[in-house]
Amino acid sequence: MILPIIAYGDPVLRKMAKDITPEYPKLDVLITNMWETMYNAHGVGLAAPQVGLPIRMFMVDTTPFSDDEDLSKEEQEQLNGFKKVFINAKIDEESGKEWDFNEGCLSIPDIREDVKRKPEITISYLDEGFKPHTETYNGLLARVIQHEYDHIQGILFTDKLSTLKKRLLKSRLEKISKGKTNVDYKMRFPNIKKGR
Ligand SMILES: [Zn+2]
Repeated sequence: MILPIIAYGDPVLRKMAKDITPEYPKLDVLITNMWETMYNAHGVGLAAPQVGLPIRMFMVDTTPFSDDEDLSKEEQEQLNGFKKVFINAKIDEESGKEWDFNEGCLSIPDIREDVKRKPEITISYLDEGFKPHTETYNGLLARVIQHEYDHIQGILFTDKLSTLKKRLLKSRLEKISKGKTNVDYKMRFPNIKKGR
């Protein structure tokens, strides 16, 4: 089932999300629905707060990035078929010299900006079977994970922009929160007028 994606301005996107246990109700159904929602919106990642749930879960499938011809063969292969669910994730370490990449977000349609992030991360998380893992990622793969991880910390990519950029984007962001945006997937807007 395709779930509505929560738009910029909703307080759920600003919460520090909470850990979950294997007893979380209908977790398998939620995961299936989130994959469906993410693919329907042509996203490479989706975090639970984006479907209205302040829990520490996100998923990533970087396959659409793997045919980018600017990337090395090695990085293309790494991105192709990388599909994972991250539960109760914690980034243990970020390192290296910050680099820019043009990011977008399913909760913030039509806005893309260069965001600086460190290139390498070590992350501990549980997979969908609640088996623990600690892994190191770098490059674009790390970037996608960092973006989704920010969502469970209540952070959006627009928070990472310069004061000037933020000021320039302010009215566009307000419009998005009111539903004044063209989007081809189902969304829920926090500041839309109720009624018909
Ligand atoms: Zn996002």
